[in-house]
Amino acid sequence: MQINLEEIRRISIEKEKENQDFKTFIKTIPIKEIDEHVHSLNEEVSKQIDCTKCGNCCKVLEPPVTAEEVQVLSDVKNTTEEEFTQNYLATEPGSAITYLKKQPCIFLEGNVCSIYQKRPFSCADYPHLHHPHIKYRWRSVMTNYKLCPIVFNVIELLKSRLKFK
Ligand code: SF4
Ligand code: SF4
Repeated sequence: MQINLEEIRRISIEKEKENQDFKTFIKTIPIKEIDEHVHSLNEEVSKQIDCTKCGNCCKVLEPPVTAEEVQVLSDVKNTTEEEFTQNYLATEPGSAITYLKKQPCIFLEGNVCSIYQKRPFSCADYPHLHHPHIKYRWRSVMTNYKLCPIVFNVIELLKSRLKFK
């Protein structure tokens, strides 16, 4: 299992061509079959990786938050929603998506979320490999491959399972 983030970044660059070919390869495989493999590999790999020793998603991503979550997070920060929005949130131009703009996340302490029980849904849901239609989200999966050891290992094991390499 590869958990070294530097190595993952390096291998991701090295495997750019291979990953392009793999994208083409999985187009020939039914969606349901890919989902079943990814879901089972995700369970297997997640059990072997300790997120509290990584925390990389919380250091480099900007998770989207709902209006209800902004209320919760403002309370946690003991500030008003207006102040919280001004200081810690941004909105994608031309989009209604609001997200936590600071990197690393303001709620990260070491490698651990200090508001774990109250973290936004998108954080709890990350890296989203348990959802269906993985093939349709391939670009986002491969973005996460470069930064999340769970995704990286799932994809590498998927290549072996499908006898791609
Ligand atoms: S979800 Fe991935 S990037 Fe986030 S802490 Fe766990 S292994 Fe690291
Ligand atoms: S709220 Fe918690 S889980 Fe979400 S990015 Fe921040 S530290 Fe990570």
